[in-house]
Amino acid sequence: MEENVMEKEVVSKNFIEQIIEKDLEDGCYDHIQTRFPPEPNGYLHIGHAKSILLNYGLAQKYHGKFNLRFDDTNPTKEKTEFVHSIIEDAKWLGADWEDRLFFASDYFEQMYEAAVKLIQKGKAYVCDLSADEIKQYRGTLTEPGKNSPYRERTVEENLELFENMKNGMYKDGEKVLRAKIDMASPNINMRDPVIYRVARMTHHNTGDKWCIYPMYDFAHPIEDAIEKVTHSICTLEFEDHRPLYDWVVNELEYPNPPKQIEFAKLYLTDVVTGKRYIKKLVEDGIVDGWDDPRLVSVAALRRRGFTPESIRNFVELVGVSKANSSVDYAMLEYCIREDLKLKVPRMMAVLDPIKLVIDNYPEDVTEQIEAPNNQEKEDMGSRTLPFGRELYIEREDFMEEPPKKYFRMFPGNVVRLMYAYIVTCTGCEKDEAGNVTVVHCTYDSQTKGGNAREGQKVKGTIHWVSVKDAVEAKVRLYENIIDEEKGKLNEDGTLNLNLNSLRVLEKCYLEPNLAHAEKLMKYQFVRNGYFCVDSKDSTEDALVLNRIVSLKSSFKL
Ligand code: ATP
Ligand code: MG
Repeated sequence: MEENVMEKEVVSKNFIEQIIEKDLEDGCYDHIQTRFPPEPNGYLHIGHAKSILLNYGLAQKYHGKFNLRFDDTNPTKEKTEFVHSIIEDAKWLGADWEDRLFFASDYFEQMYEAAVKLIQKGKAYVCDLSADEIKQYRGTLTEPGKNSPYRERTVEENLELFENMKNGMYKDGEKVLRAKIDMASPNINMRDPVIYRVARMTHHNTGDKWCIYPMYDFAHPIEDAIEKVTHSICTLEFEDHRPLYDWVVNELEYPNPPKQIEFAKLYLTDVVTGKRYIKKLVEDGIVDGWDDPRLVSVAALRRRGFTPESIRNFVELVGVSKANSSVDYAMLEYCIREDLKLKVPRMMAVLDPIKLVIDNYPEDVTEQIEAPNNQEKEDMGSRTLPFGRELYIEREDFMEEPPKKYFRMFPGNVVRLMYAYIVTCTGCEKDEAGNVTVVHCTYDSQTKGGNAREGQKVKGTIHWVSVKDAVEAKVRLYENIIDEEKGKLNEDGTLNLNLNSLRVLEKCYLEPNLAHAEKLMKYQFVRNGYFCVDSKDSTEDALVLNRIVSLKSSFKL
């Protein structure tokens, strides 16, 4: 699949670009304007990132404008906390809306006037049916709906009743305003949809000024039209709502009205995308907040160590399409590896330590070993590492009885300590239970820098950290939060969670150059992957690092 995506995206324009170019050519619009319209009821996730970057990217590409607009017409779930986080995350991703930050709630007055205009045109009426009755009257996919008994109210009566609605004369749900379209339409969205409801709710922006609120399908096209958006890009589930979108902008007689274009939502395998599911994980305490590094909210990706560049590359690689599908999470991992490969230093850290003693090395000597910061990028320079008689190595780098093709430490084997010396393993010590506690070796002083003697072949190279100088740290390793074997949802609709998604290693040892690693700094730890200093839990005295991604993958482009 990935190959197709690549080919298609590289050689041709995506279908949205084709529409835009045609519209510009035909003189439909003289410039383009896009928007990202989040509802401030949660944090942004990777799917929203795609939408932001798509809309912002199109505006840039065609020298148009891009708006950030909060779609805050439904006060029940909206909070100012989310407004702030969305702004922060959208900026971090690299989107720039200059001074075009808008709130749909600032248009409540214009929306009210638009509703009055529809009533005056005989295109909207106040209906007294209850929510249940409206549903019954609506019909089904196979049966047409029935007209409401209130459908033929006069314009005057409707104007008066709607004003009464606004003035708080009715209880919540007692009356609604409906568009007068066609109860027999094959498209259920066109069967006299509700466009205004009575609801006493305090709004985060307008407070208690309004007790009627517009419905999404009515409000959204008006918001777009007021802002002079040209291409209103949304996700596929709104395809059936497009006739209503067009109806609203046409009946309200906006000049050069906006066009709705739908594309498929981005889904990722083995992680949780929908806001609803993320919210539930947060509320149930299964994760540590909206920015838990196992989530794919933008805040979580940032905390985990993803960069804006890696997310931009990912979104580009995925492309836009009209068909729903899930993208392999490994593709996102590929993008962060590629981005960090030549950007971050490669350091030594032992995650599962065991002590190695070099028996023929003097006790109180510390040598400084020079190591390149990134072998693939010379201009990143080098640093020194203290080296002494006692080192930490990874527990898995020693085996008393190795299988075939194991080239690391085992009694009698010759191994390279990265950048330092060639050593010969001489044996180990064990505790009463038979666990290895210390590994022993001797070193060859003629091999400084890890350079073997002439003719000598050394197959294994392992990393190490000097015991005396090591910095202790806590390291968190992650697996995807969804159990890969069984799919996202259980039969009862609950998420099929991977119970091993978080592993905490309490005592890891890092080279001393990492002693002052600051929050959000990123590194490669040789052989162990890419890591990021946690932005919440890490302190100067107690470092905490998150693994962003391991080094290897079977994923190929
Ligand atoms: P969710 O499905 O997670 O609840 P939403 O669509 O309710 O998201 P909104 O705040 O209403 O969230 O969405 C803002 C914009 O982001 C909309 O234009 C929406 O189409 C787009 N969007 C939401 N989820 C995705 C996704 N997975 N992929 C691409 N775009 C998305
Ligand atoms: Mg929504």
